[in-house]
Amino acid sequence: MQTDRNLYDLIIVGGGPAGLSAAIYMARARYRVLVVEKSDIGGQITITDEIVNYPGIERTGGKELTEKMHRQAESFGARFLIAEVKDMNLTDDIKVLHTTKGVYKALGVILATGANPRRLGFEGEREFQGRGVAYCATCDGEFFTGLEVFVIGGGYAAVEEGLFLTKYAKKVTFIVRKDRFSCARTVSDKLEGEEKIQVHFDTELIGAGGEQMLEYARFRNSRTGEEWTYKAADGTTFGIFVFAGYVPNTEWIGKEVARDEQGYLLTDENQKTNLDGVYAAGDVCVKNLRQVVTAVSDGAVAATSLEKDVENLHKRLGIPQLHREEPSRQSEQGFLNDDIKQQLQGIFDRFEQSVHLRVWLDDRPVSGEVIDFMKELEKMTDKISWEKAEIDEAGIKRMLPSIEVCREDKAESGIEFHGVPGGHEFNSFIMALYNVAGPGQEIEREVFDKLQNLEQKINIKVLVSLSCTMCPETVMSAQKAAAVSDKVEAEMYDLAHFPELKEKYKVMSVPCMIINDEKIIFGKKNVAEVADILAGQAY
Ligand SMILES: Cc1cc2nc3c(=O)[nH]c(=O)nc-3n(C[C@H](O)[C@H](O)[C@H](O)COP(=O)(O)OP(=O)(O)OC[C@H]3O[C@@H](n4cnc5c(N)ncnc54)[C@H](O)[C@@H]3O)c2cc1C
Repeated sequence: MQTDRNLYDLIIVGGGPAGLSAAIYMARARYRVLVVEKSDIGGQITITDEIVNYPGIERTGGKELTEKMHRQAESFGARFLIAEVKDMNLTDDIKVLHTTKGVYKALGVILATGANPRRLGFEGEREFQGRGVAYCATCDGEFFTGLEVFVIGGGYAAVEEGLFLTKYAKKVTFIVRKDRFSCARTVSDKLEGEEKIQVHFDTELIGAGGEQMLEYARFRNSRTGEEWTYKAADGTTFGIFVFAGYVPNTEWIGKEVARDEQGYLLTDENQKTNLDGVYAAGDVCVKNLRQVVTAVSDGAVAATSLEKDVENLHKRLGIPQLHREEPSRQSEQGFLNDDIKQQLQGIFDRFEQSVHLRVWLDDRPVSGEVIDFMKELEKMTDKISWEKAEIDEAGIKRMLPSIEVCREDKAESGIEFHGVPGGHEFNSFIMALYNVAGPGQEIEREVFDKLQNLEQKINIKVLVSLSCTMCPETVMSAQKAAAVSDKVEAEMYDLAHFPELKEKYKVMSVPCMIINDEKIIFGKKNVAEVADILAGQAY
């Protein structure tokens, strides 16, 4: 019997710790497994530099830990697809998942979609997001170097992130709604003796505002009703970091999957939801402790319980064992791990044409780093050539250093990286080369047409920081738009080397897209969202 190429034993929605653990268990049991992840493999924990409470590993980073899980799952044969699941039919024996990269089917599904930071709804929150209001200390903390910040929340994440912010901020003030912290004493005790930290219990943030950047915030003591206002010193600004819990990523999941009043999915002790063949794992579930250790435990329990259901379905529906591709170490996304050079080779081999890089240098040390980077790249493949550009008129207009990505015939592609594309931007830079060399990353027909039909020239500047885990998606999307449309230019700037742009555009958060030097848009954007923005259909 011929089986559908897109049929899997198990599809896991979400590539965070819960999804990765489920993939390890199920793939190791030799089932055909697909993990669908809409953003970065690794989930929320990738924004944390320091994990010290995962048993057996004294200290690690979120990215490091989940990269290992990712490789482990791949080594057992799990496949990874970078796509967003938009809709699902989960009630029949064969589940159907509609993703941004096509329709996939499975005998079992594990929902491991995690949670997102909760917006508080105070006056000014939306307006000043990216201009002082932030949700990720690792991503945006350094923008508040030497400034005061307020941390809103009294839970585990608030305390950990607030402590992290002391690295940059001159003062960190905790605003806690209750009369005490809601995390374990061992965690909140870490704040004691920290000179830069002040705590206001029984206090709420009512609103914040200013001209372009935050200038003031208003607070209320919830016991006495007394209100007070904080004002930044003249000509300066400050930050508000909100860590007020999470909302489960379930709004898009059909109501046939049972949930509690907050939207967290209800499961039994085997992680099974109310639907046969549908399990849930990790932060998306109703549970008391949302941590990596419990997420991976849920994933393992869900996978091993689901195994029996899948086996029964094979028998009942007469479906033969599904063909598994041989275990591989290469996913659609991962190029940046231990065997990076070997993996890059796989990408370069797919290049349809070679690419030429024109580098524009100045006399700063970072220009030396650009040359070292070029030398490294050129050693790896003959599909990439490069030259130092003469600083002529075109060079004088540029912000230097920069790497201009050109086609095989040296014609401009519209993509340029200002700085050295290391850290989290290495992946996206290689993707830019792949998109210019062809065939490039797949893109939906509708999005492709939208980009091709753009009539006016559009310049996108993407301001990034190399430690930002949310930046690469926006960078890749802008670059893809430039690779598809000759009307679009995508220029990336590592703010560490171009701090003047932060001032010029009044930016306190990355990723930040600046369209035609006017419209400023913050946050992670996929290519469909970028196409909508460029076509004037969003924002
Ligand atoms: C700042 C911070 C610090 C933390 N520190 C620690 C710590 O030190 N120790 C610890 O144990 N825990 C820590 N945690 C908690 C830990 O990160 C979570 O408990 C854990 O990541 C939960 O894993 P998960 O797989 O359930 O969900 P997530 O990590 O949230 O992963 C869910 C994934 O699903 C994807 N997804 C969602 N919807 C879709 C869709 N429709 N299609 C495709 N993909 C989708 C998301 O993009 C995401 O990658 C921290 C969390 C934060 C935010």
